[in-house]
Amino acid sequence: MFDVIIAGCGPTGAMLAAELRLHDVRVLVLEKETEPASSVRIVSLHIRSLELMAMRGLLERLLPHGRRRPAAGFFAAIDKPVPEGLDSAYAYLLGIPQPVIVRLLEEHAIGLGARVRHGCAVTGLEQDGEGVTVELAGGERLRSRYLVGCDGARSTVRGLLGVGFPGEPSRADTLMGEMEVGVPQEEIAAVTAGIRETHRRFWLRPFGGGSYSVLVPAEGVGDRAEPPTLQEFRQALRAVAGTDFGVHSPRWVSRFGDATRLAERYRAGRVLLAGDAAHIHPPIGGQGLNLGVQDAFNLGWKLAAQVRGWAPETLLDTYEAERHPVAEEVLDNTRAQTELLSDEPGPRAVRRLLTELMDFNEVNRHLIEKIAAIGVRYDFGEGPDLLGRRLRDIDVEQGRLYDLLHRGRGLLLDRTGRLTAGGWSDRVDHLADPIAALDVPCVLLRPDGHVAWIGDDQRDLDAHLARWFGEPVG
Ligand SMILES: Cc1cc2nc3c(=O)[nH]c(=O)nc-3n(C[C@H](O)[C@H](O)[C@H](O)COP(=O)(O)OP(=O)(O)OC[C@H]3O[C@@H](n4cnc5c(N)ncnc54)[C@H](O)[C@@H]3O)c2cc1C
Repeated sequence: MFDVIIAGCGPTGAMLAAELRLHDVRVLVLEKETEPASSVRIVSLHIRSLELMAMRGLLERLLPHGRRRPAAGFFAAIDKPVPEGLDSAYAYLLGIPQPVIVRLLEEHAIGLGARVRHGCAVTGLEQDGEGVTVELAGGERLRSRYLVGCDGARSTVRGLLGVGFPGEPSRADTLMGEMEVGVPQEEIAAVTAGIRETHRRFWLRPFGGGSYSVLVPAEGVGDRAEPPTLQEFRQALRAVAGTDFGVHSPRWVSRFGDATRLAERYRAGRVLLAGDAAHIHPPIGGQGLNLGVQDAFNLGWKLAAQVRGWAPETLLDTYEAERHPVAEEVLDNTRAQTELLSDEPGPRAVRRLLTELMDFNEVNRHLIEKIAAIGVRYDFGEGPDLLGRRLRDIDVEQGRLYDLLHRGRGLLLDRTGRLTAGGWSDRVDHLADPIAALDVPCVLLRPDGHVAWIGDDQRDLDAHLARWFGEPVG
């Protein structure tokens, strides 16, 4: 009997497993594949995800494997400088191969005590008042108190629950891959420069080691379970560029669509959904993995609280209440970006207009912050603007704030030195510190770094500790 079974060891599942282990929850991750993914796709980790990694002491491990890039130009690929005033100590983008992220997160989870079984596909589930019975492809049955479907866009768990996944189907496929070319770089540059003016879903650029990264619109919408063939790449390149550049020797190839869908619910009893299992959208702006990892960060401590028995009654439901609207917004911004990448005259005119508007720093910053997910504000009720937002990493007497969050506990930042976490001190740390970077008396941070309370009154604080951390001990 496990406390939590997680279906899928992608970035979302691995992150969730690690978050649960911080609270000693017995976790089993079931991953269908026996081998790591062959696609070495480079993905962007945006500011909020970098912050999460810093909050758990993981950023230093990721940095050597990635390339830092300026936090600019990723809204609809509109090329602008880094906006002034980005409110983060990690105001950059980290380009890093997705398999590296998955491997590091999986190692982190295992290091904390999670069990991961590869080659185990979840095929069935049944839930009752006490738990969930999970069936594997070979007929083995396992039991846990909760199950989380982190099993990607075609989620078996979502399907078995019968949770609707409404939205728009894919209208256009794009082929992406890494391969060698048979013509000189100058010839490629001469042809591709003109195409990029009108075809925004196209590039052919050197990737290092003699290979090229290729992105090209596919002809028609295909079966995404099947990787495209080299022949399809050649055909698609000829259709767009009039030549296939002699592409050969692919290292990896993939196909993605622009379907946009959001699960109707994130929870059905003892079963929850997170990551691509809960939402899909085109990869414009590079947000999917970030959104999934951030789901896991929101869910982890709440599910742990439920398992450990100290969760207030409605805590677990705040996962959907907080994260569903965030996904809705991401879906919306990718719909908008898709339009802005269209080759039609109307959207191109709107793109020109937005390109002008983004010369205003406020506009540029707003759009970059949207994608970087540092503008998210959860609805915790009436209060100052900081309430419900994440607190950026700031200097404290002991060093950096985020270094104090590695254990995934709540944190009371007390500038008055008069307050106490009292009967919640087994779940909430207390830091009495004059903290120059804060302009409010005291702040209660949840384990995910969001501001749950601001004030200086102990009784009011106690009420909020109870709201987020349950009954006090003693
Ligand atoms: C071309 C492209 C570029 C992208 N670029 C970016 C980017 O720059 N930034 C970004 O944030 N996102 C990007 N994304 C999106 C990102 O790759 C996904 O959002 C991310 O992989 C979702 O993570 P996940 O863990 O939720 O799901 P997945 O990565 O799909 O992982 C799900 C896991 O579950 C396993 N599984 C499936 N079914 C079962 C089952 N029945 N039982 C057990 N295990 C199962 C799968 O094998 C897999 O390991 C891009 C996507 C594409 C296609």
